Amino acid sequence: MKTIGLIGGMSWESSAEYYRVVNEEVQRKLGGLHSAKCILFSVDFEEIERMQRQDKWMEAGRLLAEAAQTLEKAGAELVVLCTNTMHIVIEALETAVEVPIVHIADATVQKIHEANLTTIGLLGTNYTMEMDFYKSRLIDNGLIVLVPDETDRNRLNQIIFDELCVGEIRQPSKKFYQKVIDKLIKDGAEGIILGCTEIGLLIKPEDSPVPVFDTAEIHAKTAVEIALGEKSAGILKKEQAKE
Ligand code: GLU
Repeated sequence: MKTIGLIGGMSWESSAEYYRVVNEEVQRKLGGLHSAKCILFSVDFEEIERMQRQDKWMEAGRLLAEAAQTLEKAGAELVVLCTNTMHIVIEALETAVEVPIVHIADATVQKIHEANLTTIGLLGTNYTMEMDFYKSRLIDNGLIVLVPDETDRNRLNQIIFDELCVGEIRQPSKKFYQKVIDKLIKDGAEGIILGCTEIGLLIKPEDSPVPVFDTAEIHAKTAVEIALGEKSAGILKKEQAKE
């Protein structure tokens, strides 16, 4: 079993889910007393969130690249960045380490392809819903991506930062997410990407009439598949470049 390096803290509410899922998955697959070999580097989210707001992406990239290097030096054999948004700076991490980095959008695309869906609604932070780094990755893989309108995007974003990232799960917010999901379905969405690692704390599969793709869960499970040698790191950009 390979050692998984987790870069977490963004927010720690979802990193805790990653820790739970990687361990549950290894236990489920190997049985006995097996658990995941993993190392968690957890950052201070206040610092990262400030850099996001101030458009200091280079600085954030350096900080997370250092975290990846620390994990690599500590023995991590693959690295998982436990946030969709900070995949904006994934290239800084990819150039900083030799070990593969499991891209959250690539892992999610695989699951959507397996489900034979094409038109997909994307929920996440404003960065993820509005900037190109994430959507382009989905579109390049053949998906048609629908995002909510601006008013809805702002409210979804606010719920992520003001509630979910501080561990508050509120029913009115859940209802709001469900209303937005319904609108996306009316617009043609066959499935919904929970493209922020905290949304799965609020929205469960049974809360949506169409399949939801919980990126935190998918990402963590994919990391386990790679760690156990069930899946090659072929879904990873770095590896694809080498092939
Ligand atoms: N965890 C969230 C995500 O997956 C948002 C926190 C962040 O801005 O990194 O995008």
